Amino acid sequence: MKIAPVEDLFTIFNETATIMQEELQCTYLEALAETGENLFHESILQDELSELTVKRLKKSYESVNLSDYTKEEIRKSFQLSILKGMKENVQPNHQMTPDAVGMLIGYLVDKFVRETSFRLLDPAVGTGNLLTTVMNHQKDKTVEATGIEIDDLLIKLAYINANLQEHPIQFFNQDSLEPLFIEAADAAVSDLPIGYYPNDVRSAEYKLKADEGHSYSHHLFIEQSINHVKPGGYLFFIIPNGMFESEQAPKLHEYLKENAYIQGLLQLPLTMFKNEKAAKSIFILQKKGEGVTPPKQALLVNLPSLSKTTEVEKILKKIDAWYKESKQ
Ligand code: SAM
Repeated sequence: MKIAPVEDLFTIFNETATIMQEELQCTYLEALAETGENLFHESILQDELSELTVKRLKKSYESVNLSDYTKEEIRKSFQLSILKGMKENVQPNHQMTPDAVGMLIGYLVDKFVRETSFRLLDPAVGTGNLLTTVMNHQKDKTVEATGIEIDDLLIKLAYINANLQEHPIQFFNQDSLEPLFIEAADAAVSDLPIGYYPNDVRSAEYKLKADEGHSYSHHLFIEQSINHVKPGGYLFFIIPNGMFESEQAPKLHEYLKENAYIQGLLQLPLTMFKNEKAAKSIFILQKKGEGVTPPKQALLVNLPSLSKTTEVEKILKKIDAWYKESKQ
């Protein structure tokens, strides 16, 4: 039995990424993508490496057998390596979704989505951390997924992450607000990019476009996700707390009233964020469709610090009770 599987696997990712970073003269994240690819293919794919480096890498790779690790252990160790790389090169809109939030969304998806086999969409998939966390938390269900991401390096990390965890995810490297040629999903999860979308020509195609100036990309992402989820499908978004107070909020309200039922709003603890302005919530919607009825009342929760286990358990019980009362 392994005593510290996540740390052990992190050490392999970290050591081999550092070796490659030096030799290939690239960033740590680029090197991490290369080493992840090697581990998955069980061979060294870069031909510009010196003999000595190849030997050192081989020795490291041979000391590990991925099938000895669970999907969550692989995800967590890869996540630790990505976090290390992101510290080296900070980009505010690239932040990975924190583990505790991913797990909570995983729990919610498992609760709301009753199909035993379903397709999940994440239109801002980033490193794939949120999407694969959610997939790993579906009990006895078969999940296939679609992930879309505009950033080349992040999507590369996401696809390696998915390969290492053996998840069937189809990836598209594109702007999610451009037309999408994807299969309709049964549900969507997304930690939305927040801010203005610069492409006004494209925004003009959306009902949630701003009447003047740039539109909010998080609003357009909500509309685009609803467009690509089947009627009755659930959507779980991480949104900024101020979303319903902006000057564009009335339009959003009106659009949501027409197209979806608000199921819940769970405010994440303020302690997770740098300041109140940066704070976020989990927003749950159900797309309207034939036979789909609104919940008796929406689930409104102020989440406690997610490290306080007993308080989190109380909240989960509250969510269970709400679900029984309002949805069944
Ligand atoms: N959940 C992701 C994870 O666990 O790594 C993090 C998502 S991050 C908060 C938002 C992501 O949206 C970023 O990776 C960013 O590159 C991506 N993004 C921003 N605008 C986009 C667009 N127009 N189309 C596709 N992806 C976009």
